[in-house]
Amino acid sequence: MTVTVRFAPSPTGRIHVGNVRTALLNWLFARAAGGGFLLRLDDTDRERSTEEFAKGIERDLEWLGLSHDDFMRQSDRMARYDEVRDLLIAGGRLYPCYETADELERKRKRQLARGLPPVYDRAALKLTAEEKAAFEAEGRTPHWRFLLDQEATGWADMIRGDVTIDAASLSDPVLIRADGTYLYTLCSVVDDVDKKITHVIRGEDHVANTGVQIQIFRALGAAPPAFGHHPLLVNADGGPLSKRLGSLSIASMREEGVEPMALLSLLAKLGTSDAVEVRGDLATLIGEFDIGKIGRAPARFDMRELEALNAKLLSETPYAAVAERLERMGVLGGVAFWETVRENITRIDGVLDWWAVVNEPVTPQIAEEDREFLALAASLLPETPWDQETWGALTGALKAKTGRKGKALFLPLRKALTGREAGPEMHRLLPLIEQDRARARLHGRTA
Ligand code: GLU
Repeated sequence: MTVTVRFAPSPTGRIHVGNVRTALLNWLFARAAGGGFLLRLDDTDRERSTEEFAKGIERDLEWLGLSHDDFMRQSDRMARYDEVRDLLIAGGRLYPCYETADELERKRKRQLARGLPPVYDRAALKLTAEEKAAFEAEGRTPHWRFLLDQEATGWADMIRGDVTIDAASLSDPVLIRADGTYLYTLCSVVDDVDKKITHVIRGEDHVANTGVQIQIFRALGAAPPAFGHHPLLVNADGGPLSKRLGSLSIASMREEGVEPMALLSLLAKLGTSDAVEVRGDLATLIGEFDIGKIGRAPARFDMRELEALNAKLLSETPYAAVAERLERMGVLGGVAFWETVRENITRIDGVLDWWAVVNEPVTPQIAEEDREFLALAASLLPETPWDQETWGALTGALKAKTGRKGKALFLPLRKALTGREAGPEMHRLLPLIEQDRARARLHGRTA
């Protein structure tokens, strides 16, 4: 069996970390098994789906490196869905219903008032040909429901273990709206059959859908794929993620300079039995992936955890991997500059701040009581060219002359030379600063 999975977003908005987690779990599952990954756009909702969102999804996945082997969109497949519709009608599994939304709502309320579950009563099944004709003469067009087998429908979920849905407690699902458009519930099954999808990995909000869709697979004479439903992501405080989805969109993360591998490392491990650690490439994540490691508890997505991974990843990134990006930012300090500052940034654009410290005027921070000490430091600055020994030579000489040590020795120098209290190691940073600039800063001048 060749493993084939799909990621099936609706292009009705920008995709966010929750969607990407589903995409990534599918992608890792496929790649770990040497299988294929289909990108499918579930765009049956013609009003809310846009080409811009569709393109955005492709761009986001490409940026993340989640390549697909096959692509389809549901809006291209109407003729095929028509065919399946006719088969299901002929087989007695789709039946026309004429209730309006209001009528259905009133039925629901009556059932609830009588303490009954608000399940569709299948009244439409009993309509005679004359009654149907009368509705149509009134100008009503039918919507179509799938006739469920009223029995327990179960599967061995790859994440949740054995799951059973009692179809008798569900309403027969509407698969075709009164305007003739199809619902995702049907299209998804038809596509999964036609594309020979072997495994469906999706959020646990689809568990009840799966009970229905397994019956549709069977009605089409197809074996259902294996299913795995992962718990949804929640906020750091345990609340639903949906409240701040804008800032959690992949597009905004890209704009803000989140590194793809930081995000992917987090999303691959959140809610699994593995510790969250940053990985430098997808191949490592593939090697570590096992769907059995995904737990049943909701996984907490914390922006601070992502920030920390991003910083860690940058601190380990070799110059060659960022050289082009640095050049595009006008940061031309080569490997020496990068290796000096990479442990002191959380996002790549943090280099700009340190680039300015080295190359642009900085206002030194100097306390009154350190003025004399710093003037002495200026006079003791070693001859150029400077290297990584220069800082040691300077502080050694200052220590010998003044008796200062530790923080009292180092911190005033750092604050004068960089205008900041913390930052890269001074033995690396000092040789990047021009001697005249350094001397002026030690004298308290903006330089
Ligand atoms: N378009 C559906 C969604 O985004 C796909 C669900 C599925 O994977 O079947 O929820």
